[in-house]
Amino acid sequence: KVKEHGKNNVKMYSKSMNEEAVQRRRLENELHKALQLDEFILHYQPQIDVKTNSIIGMEALIRWEHPTRNLLYPNDFIALAEESGLIVPIGQKVLELACKQCKDWQEMGHTDLRIGVNLSQIQLRQPDLVESVRRVLEMTGLEPSFLELEITESIAMHNTDLVIEQLNGLVALGVQISIDDFGTGFSSLSYLSKFPIHRLKIDRSFITNITNKSESAIVSSIVGLAQNLNLGVIVEGVETELQRITLPALGCHEMQGYLFSRPMPAIQFGSILESRIG
Ligand code: C2E
Ligand code: MG
Ligand code: MG
Ligand code: MG
Repeated sequence: KVKEHGKNNVKMYSKSMNEEAVQRRRLENELHKALQLDEFILHYQPQIDVKTNSIIGMEALIRWEHPTRNLLYPNDFIALAEESGLIVPIGQKVLELACKQCKDWQEMGHTDLRIGVNLSQIQLRQPDLVESVRRVLEMTGLEPSFLELEITESIAMHNTDLVIEQLNGLVALGVQISIDDFGTGFSSLSYLSKFPIHRLKIDRSFITNITNKSESAIVSSIVGLAQNLNLGVIVEGVETELQRITLPALGCHEMQGYLFSRPMPAIQFGSILESRIG
């Protein structure tokens, strides 16, 4: 009897595994098509300097305008795009769209706007990454220093020599590098002195209870670390007025988060830029 039960379990297990595999295959095919049909778009989230209350830049965040489902978010498809390798052409498309958009807004008079683009570790392992970034910059006319490539700490844990070489190549182009979700990667901090980086993006998990003594101590320590290493710093996920008024006292005045704005389509971002001019 026990054996039968076990057998049944195995069968159910393999069936659901199979269904999952079928679903993944379908999604992978759809990702292929989405690329051909240009279904990927970018939303832009402003980055604010609260000292001047001005928009200093924006992060480009991918969305998928799926033909039959609602708008899909990165969590729905980036992992599979990475596993299938499709993240390489998708990431290339993102880079092109983002650089072009940033250049367009600069030409409208917002000359100092910078653009943050997330880079997958799969992309970072592509031998032609530096060359393709160089080509996008040339094609769009965006000055390299306005492009900020966001990588996560987990990148530091694999193929370190290759990563350093790639980052050096990118920095030689004049591009900026930032560490996304800083503090959540569980990696040794030694990469901070080995990697050519320009900015830390403090993860939003560190500011959820910002008036808490140990939490504010962590934030001001990260800011101190950044200052000592001559790095810029920005806080992600600012949602409350309390966070906005507390963070500058901890040394951080560049912010990104729902309090200022959710990520939004280019049209909407453009009109906000225009309404803020002067
Ligand atoms: P991320 O790079 O850390 O981006 C910030 C995420 O936090 C975004 O989610 C953004 O919408 C969200 N966020 C912004 N402000 C707030 C806030 O105040 N509160 C909360 N709770 N969340 C906030 P999104 O757009 O869903 O992106 C999730 C992740 O997907 C990104 O995290 C990034 O790792 C990845 N991603 C997005 N676009 C791309 C892309 O083009 N390529 C790659 N490889 N990854 C991307
Ligand atoms: Mg990011
Ligand atoms: Mg982040
Ligand atoms: Mg993230």
